[in-house]
Amino acid sequence: MKLGFLEILFLIGSLCTLTIRAYYKRANRKASPVVDSHHTRLDAVLLFTAMAAMAPVPLVYIFTPFLDPANFFLPDPIRWCGVPMLFAAVLVFWRAHADLGLNWSGYLEVKEQHQLVTHGIYRSIRHPMYAAILIWGLGQAMVLTNWIAGPANIIASLLFLMVRAPREETMLLERFGGAYRDYMSQTGRIIPRLARMNMSGH
Ligand code: SAH
Repeated sequence: MKLGFLEILFLIGSLCTLTIRAYYKRANRKASPVVDSHHTRLDAVLLFTAMAAMAPVPLVYIFTPFLDPANFFLPDPIRWCGVPMLFAAVLVFWRAHADLGLNWSGYLEVKEQHQLVTHGIYRSIRHPMYAAILIWGLGQAMVLTNWIAGPANIIASLLFLMVRAPREETMLLERFGGAYRDYMSQTGRIIPRLARMNMSGH
């Protein structure tokens, strides 16, 4: 078992992420019905892989010897640099859920009363939740010194994001047309576009 202080912080961060997701998933039961779904099997597989790389694989690394052959050494000061990333990711993940509200969905879906969110953290970035997952992945790669458990998440999340973000934008363009096109022109996909913005109503 490799349960040092850094691993404990990693587990606390994971727990925060899971709690945020569970809370908003529960709140989402009040959302209006889904009227358009673009969910595919590839989405499901990529999502499952990204989730597995975020918690189960690190748990196997921390609590069992199975991944030990892939361990490597990284000086603690470098590993510590990953900790602010983990907690920044939790913060962004929370804000994205809070701002997206009932428009959130685990899959690519449009709801009956779907509203385009352009405020809060969505004001300058279109995919803060996916950005949070990538920031988490970077933090994980620095904190967990194992060639499998460390980079697993950032690799899986990049694949997930590359497939999902463009499809999500196509879906939202179909649903919101010009309003989403304008929004796209004033925001960054996963890196915030800071110089903006004159969206009506916000
Ligand atoms: N890609 C976003 C949201 C992830 S949740 C992010 O990373 O923060 C996925 C769902 O959010 C999709 O089914 C889509 O319908 C919805 N969605 C994404 N961006 C949205 C927006 N700006 N306004 C309303 N709904 C949005």
